[in-house]
Amino acid sequence: MSQLVYLDNAATTQVKEEVLEEMLPFFRETYSNPSAVYSFAQNGKKAVEKARKQAADLIGAKQEEIYFTAGGSESDNWALKAIAEAYEGKGKHIITSKIEHHAILYTCEYLEKRGFEVTYLDVDADGKIVIEELKKAIRKDTILISIMSANNEIGTIQPLAEIGRIAHEKDIIFHTDAVQAYGHIPLNVDAMHIDMLSASGHKLGGPKGIGLLYIRSGIKIKSFIHGGAQERSRRAGTHNTPGIIGIGKAAELAGKNMNENIQKETALRSHLIERVLSEIPHVKLNGHPTDRLPGNANFSFRFVEGESILILLDQLGICASSGSACTSGSLDPSHVLLAIGLPHEIAHGSLRLLYLKKQL
Ligand SMILES: *Cc1c(COP(=O)(O)O)cnc(C)c1O
Repeated sequence: MSQLVYLDNAATTQVKEEVLEEMLPFFRETYSNPSAVYSFAQNGKKAVEKARKQAADLIGAKQEEIYFTAGGSESDNWALKAIAEAYEGKGKHIITSKIEHHAILYTCEYLEKRGFEVTYLDVDADGKIVIEELKKAIRKDTILISIMSANNEIGTIQPLAEIGRIAHEKDIIFHTDAVQAYGHIPLNVDAMHIDMLSASGHKLGGPKGIGLLYIRSGIKIKSFIHGGAQERSRRAGTHNTPGIIGIGKAAELAGKNMNENIQKETALRSHLIERVLSEIPHVKLNGHPTDRLPGNANFSFRFVEGESILILLDQLGICASSGSACTSGSLDPSHVLLAIGLPHEIAHGSLRLLYLKKQL
């Protein structure tokens, strides 16, 4: 095979060279447990706190509001289950959307089995929630609104500031799954009234198996992993020092290069979209035409199965995916494409590409 063309950065990204360089000493020399008291542990501890600051700065949060986890799925599970537990005295109603990642949707199903009621908001044909529908869904016993920042399949960006403002007017906690958005588009927890935010290292040029949950000070939630006193006793377990250093560095780089990256990715994306739409018959772009992740393109092709296109592309060395990586192998069409109103057969012929400049 001549050259690999990797267009599946929504599934995972390559670890950036600078990130890897920053991580390596924490496998080799600075391998101490950062919770230990001897001076050998101090460098590890300092580096973890520096990474926490880097991760916080990217979203305008305070350093002590960042809690490191083992990834986006854990952060999503923790946010929802812990809020449900901490606030069930106030109410048992949660609002989310039909196009969330399964880490949110299946956690909601789990909570429904435990007596919580969940409203799954519809989205419009571009994949946006409808603000009026959100307002109508709010009840006296609503404790949480969880809406993703940007969709992992179709790239649509949600009106976060507006959602957050509505949530706060009603004294409801606002969580956002920002795994696709963190480091890719500007996010600010204060301007957007975000109380909790999930992110994951491997979606922004950091390593896999490290994530974070931003929890606004004052939100009372308990630990999800019981054990040691790490992460202010809210998330036990020996720190994944190299992973933490990695997500911190990736966050720093993403913040520094964000404008430049957005410009480059948007230009590449527009080029791809224009040519696919003009040169291939029976094709449709899914997701919002402009309010979409700079690096995302998602197409539906009529009269052909998504899986068949993927196999043909693979033979050309092109990595793409249909729907989300987590559901590949299942024969069901994407829940996201069905939610934006595509008929089954068209949703089946879909392809997701995430166009990022080579070596982010
Ligand atoms: C990838 C992804 C997740 C899961 O993150 P992991 O770190 O892989 O567990 C959650 N939500 C969205 C939107 C994602 O894209």
